[in-house]
Amino acid sequence: MATSARVRRVLDTLGEMFPDAHCELIHSNPFELTIAVLLSAQCTDETVNKVTVNLFHKYKTPEDYLAVPLEQLEQDIRRIGLFRNKAKNIQKLCQILLDKYNGEVPQKHEQLTELPGVGRKTANVVMSTAFGVPAIAVDTHVERVSKRLGLADETDSVLEVEKKLMRKVPRVEWTLTHHRFIFFGRYHCKAQSPRCEVCLLLDMCKFGKTRMKAEQRRNNGK
Ligand code: SF4
Repeated sequence: MATSARVRRVLDTLGEMFPDAHCELIHSNPFELTIAVLLSAQCTDETVNKVTVNLFHKYKTPEDYLAVPLEQLEQDIRRIGLFRNKAKNIQKLCQILLDKYNGEVPQKHEQLTELPGVGRKTANVVMSTAFGVPAIAVDTHVERVSKRLGLADETDSVLEVEKKLMRKVPRVEWTLTHHRFIFFGRYHCKAQSPRCEVCLLLDMCKFGKTRMKAEQRRNNGK
């Protein structure tokens, strides 16, 4: 199958499976989203949401986060992995927002990635979800799904995967594709037990076909 037809098939199928895919981090403004994405590094959205429900009630502005000792903020996010480092980054980030951006989250990619704890993925999520700028943030799900479906090579770095997806997917579909790949990876093409046996893309998925054949061999050998 030609690459463009392959990509179209993936986008259309995932569109049918997850028409309402969206960012699952609960937030009500760009600042809360930035804090939530920062907290989500190496942590599930579910855990982040459990913590931010109280956190966002207590801290509403950058000033609020800076008004407490670091140890207090650490306590408030202690259920999250790497909480000490993340607490430190949140306070540094809040100070920069106040010093340079009047307390607002900046909208440019290079400004976002200069903030402590904000990498390329976080910047892309904030730009696309909070400010409506098309972007494809490559997290663990997007990377895995892209590689399994042959839209990127197994040895590609995260940045290479992002660049390939940006070349292959029409710009107007970048943000939705990002959300749909995450939903597909989170609920269907899971890391440990992908649902290949009921997958609508099995016929074009080398990884899935190899996996199903191996399972068949195992069953026949029983
Ligand atoms: Fe994922 Fe399996 Fe579907 Fe391939 S066939 S996309 S590995 S669920």
